[in-house]
Amino acid sequence: MKILAIGRNYVDHIAELNSERPEEPVIFTKPETALLQNNAPFYYPDFSNNIHYEVEIILRICKNGKYIDPAFAHNYFDAIGIGIDFTARDLQDKAKAKGLPWDLSKGFNGSAPVSKFIDKASLGDISNLSFSLKIDGEQKQMGNTSMMLFNFNEIIAYISRFILLKKGDIIFTGTPKGVGPVAIGNKLEAFIEDKKLLEVEIK
Ligand code: MG
Repeated sequence: MKILAIGRNYVDHIAELNSERPEEPVIFTKPETALLQNNAPFYYPDFSNNIHYEVEIILRICKNGKYIDPAFAHNYFDAIGIGIDFTARDLQDKAKAKGLPWDLSKGFNGSAPVSKFIDKASLGDISNLSFSLKIDGEQKQMGNTSMMLFNFNEIIAYISRFILLKKGDIIFTGTPKGVGPVAIGNKLEAFIEDKKLLEVEIK
């Protein structure tokens, strides 16, 4: 399986990082070794002093597809969950300044904690889904899928022009504003609507 992710997909987050609003989706990948499952703890790595949380709705691809038409893209994912796109912001800023790739700042071990997946049919209107992140009980991020620049179907259609999507792939769909650093000892909790689906302790 592979993990694909979209950057700069919420206007309020683009503004907080002083990024440019993209005309096309900004896509990056994380290796399979970035996955953290079953509420496993995250170990703060020694190569960064500025690991940021980014809470994101994630999609699970349920069948292979390329050149998927946006009108049929909904048939290619069957389940939704929540994940954290951990980012070594110091490494990313350095790479951005030099015009170099983000890979190491986004794809290091454990940089993709994910929840269990929920059948999307049980979630109601997925184009108007609230999600949020608490750290040590305090709300840090709150988003709604209605605020995405590129919606789920557009993301799937776009990626599949370049990269064959395969059953079991996961797509991170972007973070709303409120990103910030984590510290050892923090307990992160991520929610879709009022339901807690993911916990990550920083060790
Ligand atoms: Mg992100």
